[in-house]
Amino acid sequence: MEPYRIKVVEPIPLTTPQQREEALRRVSYNLFDLRADEVTIDLLSDSGTGAISAAQLSAGMNGDESYAGSRSFYRWRETVSELTGYPHLLPAHQGRAAERILFTSLLTPGSTVVSNTHFDTTRANVELVGCQARDIPCPEAKDLDSPHRFKGNIDLKALEQILQNQQESPVAAVVMTITNNGGGGQPVSMENLHRTADLCRRHSVPMILDAARFAENAWLVTRHEPGYQDRTPRQVAEEAFRLADGCIMSAKKDGIVHIGGFIGLKDPELAQKCERLLIATEGFATYGGLAGRDLDMMAQGLLEVTEPSYLAERADIAGHLAQRIRDAGVDIVEPAGLHALYLNAGRLLPHIPPHQYPGHSLACQLYLRGGIRSAELGSLYLGEEDEHGNPIKSAPYELVRLALPRRVYTRSHYDHVAATLASIAKDPSSVHGYRITDQSPILRHFSIKLAPAGV
Ligand SMILES: *Cc1c(COP(=O)(O)O)cnc(C)c1O
Repeated sequence: MEPYRIKVVEPIPLTTPQQREEALRRVSYNLFDLRADEVTIDLLSDSGTGAISAAQLSAGMNGDESYAGSRSFYRWRETVSELTGYPHLLPAHQGRAAERILFTSLLTPGSTVVSNTHFDTTRANVELVGCQARDIPCPEAKDLDSPHRFKGNIDLKALEQILQNQQESPVAAVVMTITNNGGGGQPVSMENLHRTADLCRRHSVPMILDAARFAENAWLVTRHEPGYQDRTPRQVAEEAFRLADGCIMSAKKDGIVHIGGFIGLKDPELAQKCERLLIATEGFATYGGLAGRDLDMMAQGLLEVTEPSYLAERADIAGHLAQRIRDAGVDIVEPAGLHALYLNAGRLLPHIPPHQYPGHSLACQLYLRGGIRSAELGSLYLGEEDEHGNPIKSAPYELVRLALPRRVYTRSHYDHVAATLASIAKDPSSVHGYRITDQSPILRHFSIKLAPAGV
């Protein structure tokens, strides 16, 4: 059961099928353009969407809003330094600001960053400074149905080869994303992290953690990795941070705050370079674009997020939804993670070709039938067409992501999601595809316009 009770509530919008049909037509079938008050269950993202605790709220009331040297900063720094062990800590307003500042300070144009899988803003920030972002997930990651426990791992053989052949482009950093968000929210094992750190040390390349979901990764390690069963998630997280040379963090995930992030580093010179850029573009080094109250709420969130009772329930509720979805006959990417479930829309809707977007069709059905908002991760997100709309490239898989906000929805909300999916799975052939009517050349999924195919 949930290890908390509910003290403050927020009504959720209840809509009729006709209202949802009109809303979807009005936004040209782009779920990003819906108003949030047209959505009943919002599973678009787990970023900044969590519920804060009474302890976080009261920590925020104690926030010190001094421009420099606030009490909030020193409290925050003490908590984060105990967790991570990094001597240099810089707050930032969210994860991508931390990425931009670190990569601008660390990378020289023409070099390469290697990762188990770069998150999309992480990749963008590597490319923006003229570097190449290379993903080398482990081979097990490619099989969506494989029950392998650590499909977030990096391919160590490929990493060793890249590190031994740096003539063309030097490797400036290895980024380990825990958990591997782009790779289906799969965890990285501590063994894989240790061996990556060894390889990096041997080749004098810094290893950086993209730690947005460090606590969820640590939980899955304590559950499934031999030798770690007797450790607490907090102990595993402490070990992971100390293995790396530094981290970038989006606290909107495992900081359980609505806004916030940070950079942690061991190297004092690199930290100084970052600090200069931080002051010029985010804010003074003791607030980094955040209010004092934000720092206090983040510090408290970082303490709560490794609580075993919190993580056990988060895993349990995700597992509950995963099982109900499987029972309805819909396949998900296995094994089920904690922060999101990925529906295999391509397999559920085989009659819809990639260029009519089976993932998007399923996402629209979830909204039309249940008021549920999700995110397509398939050929709408990753595919390409020529100017006449003929497909050039489709995505390897047609997926829909149901992101699970922290401490927000209960089992009955998720039962509604599963029941909606079950109603779709009863007669999948009645679901039709979509065609694009207007799109922009970059990040098209945010602003795309569509219409039902054949209309
Ligand atoms: C969300 C996320 C980021 C970017 O963080 P923002 O706070 O959204 O800027 C970076 N890496 C990973 C793995 C993420 O999930």
